[in-house]
Amino acid sequence: MRTFTQISALRTYLRGIRLEGKQIGFVPTMGALHEGHLSLVQRAARDCDLVVLSIYVNPRQFGPNEDFDAYPRDLQRDLQMASSAGVDAVLIPANEEMYPGGYQTVVQLPDLGGLLDGAHRPGHFDGVATVVCKLLNIVQPDRAFFGQKDYQQIRVIEQMLLDLNIPCKIVMTPTLRAADGLALSSRNSYLNAKERKAATVIHRALCAVIDLTERGERRPKVLEEQMLEVLGTEPLIKVQYASVVSSETLQPAPEDGLDRMVALIAAHVGRTRLIDNEVLIVEARFKDLS
Ligand code: AMP
Repeated sequence: MRTFTQISALRTYLRGIRLEGKQIGFVPTMGALHEGHLSLVQRAARDCDLVVLSIYVNPRQFGPNEDFDAYPRDLQRDLQMASSAGVDAVLIPANEEMYPGGYQTVVQLPDLGGLLDGAHRPGHFDGVATVVCKLLNIVQPDRAFFGQKDYQQIRVIEQMLLDLNIPCKIVMTPTLRAADGLALSSRNSYLNAKERKAATVIHRALCAVIDLTERGERRPKVLEEQMLEVLGTEPLIKVQYASVVSSETLQPAPEDGLDRMVALIAAHVGRTRLIDNEVLIVEARFKDLS
C-alpha cells in the first residue's frame, strides 16, 4: 500500500494507473477506521481495479463547539487496517495541503444542506460538500463509495455531482451495525457502558417504524410519533430530530406519505451526538388497501 501526503504525488501516481486503463475506486473517511469503513473498501475492491482511501479530519465540517479536537485519531492503526482490507493508496493530507493560505471557495447546497443535520449543525454540509468536491477533483475516481449511515451526506453529494458535472458514480453501501443494532461509528468510542446500552434505542425506534410500514402505515406523522415513543423509553437520550421525509429531496412528505421515504434520527446520548436512518419502501400492495 502506498501512502501519500502530497496531492501532486498522488495525482502523478494515479495518472499512470489511469493510462493502464484501470478503474479507480475512492473511499473518503475521517479515519478512526472500523468495520463500516472496511465494508466500503471491500465493495470498492470488488467494483474497481484500484482502491484509494483518504484519511482527513476536515476542520471545515465541524462547528466551533463540536468535537474536532477530540475526534479519535490513530493513524498507525488505520494504516494497518487499510492495508489488510486491500487499500492500494492512502491520501493523508495536512490542513495546509487542503486549504493553503488564501483558500476561498465554498460549495454550498442551501436546500439539501440546510435541512435536518444541516439545521442543527450550521455550515456542516458546506464543509462536507467542499472537501468531497476537492477530494473528487484530486483523485478523479470512476466510483466513490459512501455509507448509508450518513444518508443526508449522500444526497448532498449526489446533487453536487449533478450540479457541478463531476463525472463519478456514487455507490451507497448498507450501514454496518453491532449485534445489538447500534450503527458502527467512530464516535461510539465516546460512549461509556451505560450510554452505549442506551444508544441501542435509536435502532429500535427505526425498526419500529419499519414494522409499521410493513403493516401498511405510511403517514409520516404516525411514523414519527412511533419513533418518538420508542426513543422516549430511554431517559439518557435527548432527541434532536426523528423525521420521516422524502428519500430524494429530504423535504417533508405529504400527509399520506410516499412510496419511498427515509426515517432519520439524530440524538445525543450524554454528550455524544449520534445519527442513524432507515429507508422505508412502502410496497405497492399496501397502496390498494388505503
Ligand atoms: P467518516 O469517517 O465517519 O466520515 O465515514 C467515512 C465513510 O464511512 C462515510 O461514507 C460513512 O457513511 C461511512 N460509514 C461510517 N459508518 C458506517 C457504517 N456503520 N456502515 C457503513 N458505512 C459507514
